[in-house]
Amino acid sequence: MRLQNKVALITGAGSGIGRESALLFSAEGAQIVVVDVVDAAGNETVAMIKANGGEACYVHADVSKSAECENMVRVAEQTFGKLNVLFNNAGIMHGDDDNAMTTEEHVWDLTMNINLKGVFLGCKFGIPALKRAGGGSIINTASFVAILGAATPQIAYTASKGGVLAMTRELAIIHARQNIRVNSLCPGPLHTKLLMDFLNTDAKKQRRLVHIPMGRFGEAKEMAQAALFLASDESSYMTGASFVVDGGITAAYVTPE
Ligand code: NAD
Repeated sequence: MRLQNKVALITGAGSGIGRESALLFSAEGAQIVVVDVVDAAGNETVAMIKANGGEACYVHADVSKSAECENMVRVAEQTFGKLNVLFNNAGIMHGDDDNAMTTEEHVWDLTMNINLKGVFLGCKFGIPALKRAGGGSIINTASFVAILGAATPQIAYTASKGGVLAMTRELAIIHARQNIRVNSLCPGPLHTKLLMDFLNTDAKKQRRLVHIPMGRFGEAKEMAQAALFLASDESSYMTGASFVVDGGITAAYVTPE
């Protein structure tokens, strides 16, 4: 098993990438701390893990709130004795996130607080715990839009994910000699609630699909496999990387018919 004897904390684990990663990490031997703001969804992930014979607990934490992030790490150490893997995955894509002229400041602030400050707070309280465990792996979920601009605007989201990439590189360098690796996961457009709610018409979905060389949205399970690699010792010489899993989008100039 690839995560035997590891304790992994995953934010946004009530849905999508976070839930699939929680299930996969558990199947690979890890004890899981499921974090979300939707308690029913988080508890459901825990129940799914337990039904498969794994160990998990749920902690309610809004990643934009300092005290709640401090508490989620405290619960991880109290429940399972240590923390080895920190997956800062929670994120939002606000329905009113648009271009610079039309996006309201409150949409910008909320997006930045969850998507970018949330990663900072996870690290602020998670890194001391990883140090106490002798090191570990941090995975921060960014996005392919941190690398490429899109004509379908989501200005706050894109800026927040660019921040995640930049912050990840600096974290990786600062902690490289402390046995703490920090990498970003950059998913392409996924067939999850977050994006399907945003691309809420067939026309919007088709507009996106045109740009994906593979011609389909990715699945949360495919991101979980990539996250597992980053979480495990198999990626032991990788830090500061922007790990792109995007159906070929960032490699494409013109996509196939
Ligand atoms: P999702 O909506 O299925 O899951 C996100 C989870 O985060 C939900 O359970 C939600 O309740 C939780 N959450 C939201 N705000 C939170 C907060 N403040 N504190 C704690 N939890 C919170 O979305 P997903 O597609 O699985 O997205 C996971 C990550 O992947 C996000 O960071 C997202 O930006 C990123 N991402 C998604 C796509 C995509 O196409 N879906 C593409 C690139 C990157």
